[in-house]
Amino acid sequence: MITVEEARERVLAGIERLGTERVGIIEALGRVLAEDVVSDIDVAPFDNSAMDGYAVRAEDVAAAREDAPVRLAVVEHVPAGSFPTRAVGRGEAVRIMTGAPMPEGADAVVMVERTREEDGGATAAILAPVRAGENVRRKGEDVRAGEVVLSAGEVVGPAAVGLLASVGCERPLVYRRPRVAIVATGDELVDVSEKPGPGKIRNSNSYSLAAQVLAAGGEPHVLGVARDTAASTEALLSRAPEFDVMVTTGGVSMGDYDVVKGVLERLGEMDFWKVAMRPGAPQTHGRIGSTPFFGLPGNPTSTMVGFELFVRPVLRKMAGHAALDRPRHPVTLAHDVKKKPDRRYFLRARVERDGDGYVARLSGGQSSAMLTSMHRANALLVLPEGESHFAAGSVVECIRLDMEEGTP
Ligand code: AMP
Ligand code: MG
Repeated sequence: MITVEEARERVLAGIERLGTERVGIIEALGRVLAEDVVSDIDVAPFDNSAMDGYAVRAEDVAAAREDAPVRLAVVEHVPAGSFPTRAVGRGEAVRIMTGAPMPEGADAVVMVERTREEDGGATAAILAPVRAGENVRRKGEDVRAGEVVLSAGEVVGPAAVGLLASVGCERPLVYRRPRVAIVATGDELVDVSEKPGPGKIRNSNSYSLAAQVLAAGGEPHVLGVARDTAASTEALLSRAPEFDVMVTTGGVSMGDYDVVKGVLERLGEMDFWKVAMRPGAPQTHGRIGSTPFFGLPGNPTSTMVGFELFVRPVLRKMAGHAALDRPRHPVTLAHDVKKKPDRRYFLRARVERDGDGYVARLSGGQSSAMLTSMHRANALLVLPEGESHFAAGSVVECIRLDMEEGTP
């Protein structure tokens, strides 16, 4: 049996980033950029108004007051999308909308709320002064033409999607999403559409795993269910080389019909098959061809925890991410927690803010067959091997399942 750290090190060893591809701007969301993105234009492309109002010469309105308005002749109207045709001279103003280009001569905008229309719009009564430059957005104030706006290695979030659009990068170069084959094993499994007969259960792992793969930025390929025979298992596992990663569930413990390990050794090689943890000690890892293989345990929560600890970091590394792990932070236990001292436990818990820190409560039953407590959990409490009793008030570490990366 190896430790969780050793297992993690071994699954990540030799994992390389996948190749790159050009994708549409929206498809780039969540992906890692494989090259710098340079702007072809200044953003803003021209000096423009930040307000609806009047473009003026600040010095003309320096004395403007509510009870002593300065009256300016309105010489033009400039809505957004059009361009001013004349300059603003002394005593003049241009009616301007947000985003519209500033006319020559004007150096500030008075917001419409501080003005009054007179003479049917021919005159603007200015009720308050403005500083030169006020309410004007400068050409290139956000981005300069030729500037690197997004760097290789950065993760594309919604704002980066907007930046890609504004600098005209229609097909950003990003790392590929890992293609992950998912195989469930077990004679007891029936499909979701069926009501399980005697001794049968619905195959939930194919679904939870596909969801975890999607949430981790991978592309799930559900290959189906292998029956508990070497032939049936081999037929599906032999497809591993078509994918970047293969993940199976079940059939890796000590039962009479647990055939996955034997098939793995015949088709490829096994690296390890047991990790000192609970839930889910029989975490199997190896390769089939050059495809990393994960034989996760069959119990629904063991599968999910194994995916979190070992598969997710591998998928993120393949997809080009620098941060591979969920954030961890200390939490204070709200109640006593007991465990056996043999292994490291990952307990499903609900973590909430409490003053400056965090407090944790178990989110329900901790049997590895139970999925409801996993659903209610937003964290896994990490209880180290060698210890067995954690009193209320003790501080332990947790892994945040509701956060992608970084610190909370
Ligand atoms: P195994 O390691 O194959 O003996 O599986 C351990 C437990 O997980 C058994 O109770 C199985 O019925 C259950 N199990 C295995 N595969 C699945 C699956 N795909 N969906 C839900 N439960 C499963
Ligand atoms: Mg089984």
